[in-house]
Amino acid sequence: MKPAPFTYHRPRSVPEALQVLADVGADGKVLAGGQSLLPLMSMRLASPAHLVDVNEVPDLADVTVTDDAVRVGALVRHAALERHDAAAAAIPLLRQGLRHVAHATIRNRGTTVGSIAHADPSGEMPAVLTLLDGTVTAASVRGEREIGVRDLFLGALETSLEPDELVVAATFPRPAAGTGTAVLEVARRHGDYAVVGVVAAVRLDDAGAVAQARASFVTAGELGTVVDLTDAVRGVHPDAPPPDWAAAGDLADGLVDVDADIHATVEYRRQLVRVLTARALQQAAREAADAIGRDAA
Ligand SMILES: Cc1cc2nc3c(=O)[nH]c(=O)nc-3n(C[C@H](O)[C@H](O)[C@H](O)COP(=O)(O)OP(=O)(O)OC[C@H]3O[C@@H](n4cnc5c(N)ncnc54)[C@H](O)[C@@H]3O)c2cc1C
Repeated sequence: MKPAPFTYHRPRSVPEALQVLADVGADGKVLAGGQSLLPLMSMRLASPAHLVDVNEVPDLADVTVTDDAVRVGALVRHAALERHDAAAAAIPLLRQGLRHVAHATIRNRGTTVGSIAHADPSGEMPAVLTLLDGTVTAASVRGEREIGVRDLFLGALETSLEPDELVVAATFPRPAAGTGTAVLEVARRHGDYAVVGVVAAVRLDDAGAVAQARASFVTAGELGTVVDLTDAVRGVHPDAPPPDWAAAGDLADGLVDVDADIHATVEYRRQLVRVLTARALQQAAREAADAIGRDAA
């Protein structure tokens, strides 16, 4: 199918983009990479009367790495962020997550901020932003505001963004010292949407044992939710055998709701939550141990 007719706008600056968005209001949609919006329009599941293409707006394609965070502009493609060595060094979880986002051609065009604004529970980067307790900066003709993930995601494909707001950047805070991270998922093919994915962070104490364990999920649970699994694995060492990590998977299973669809039954998804959570936490703990070892060396 072809999209319903729409008016195409191509602003050349942020103020111009914000004015167009204000003028068209709820009839408009921002167009970034188009990798989610255009398929929806082609299937006529979305029919915005105005498309505001921000690809010609300058200064939105920067990645800024500071002591505290990585700030990702609205036009940074998934592939560019994945290749960004300073961003990956500051927050390895960015590259770990991006490696699972779609296939190379889609990563070359799709933007990380677009993925967050789209709020698909099957997207990896919303789950990464959630685990890191990040924010987005939303601009409109009324000014700019920072929105934390807990206030951003309202449900599947639903955010607290106003129709006239442009997300100019997403900010991913650096995890605390001694933290390791991992992303594990099962997909029919690598790069397809995950049947279930787990984004995990583990902080070790001075003795090298788990002090804190947390996870967010892809295609499971509510967008914007982090579950604290520390009670199940506190004091466990990175090289402890699988049974020692299984309790965290069982705890996650009790905390995360899953649905059935054509790809998986509820039982299969719950099994994936249990197994992948335990493995992801152990992998994150090993990464933390390696990082502490490197720092000490
Ligand atoms: C076959 C296929 C497989 C895919 N697999 C995966 C996958 O495994 N994991 C995954 O995470 N993603 C996957 N994707 C989606 C991909 O990551 C998209 O690129 C991403 O979700 C949206 O980014 P975009 O820049 O293309 O946004 P667009 O498609 O341009 O926009 C998506 C939505 O976000 C809004 N939006 C975009 N940018 C802004 C902004 N700056 N401010 C306000 N609103 C904005 C748009 O108005 C629209 O509603 C897949 C896509 C395809 C086609």
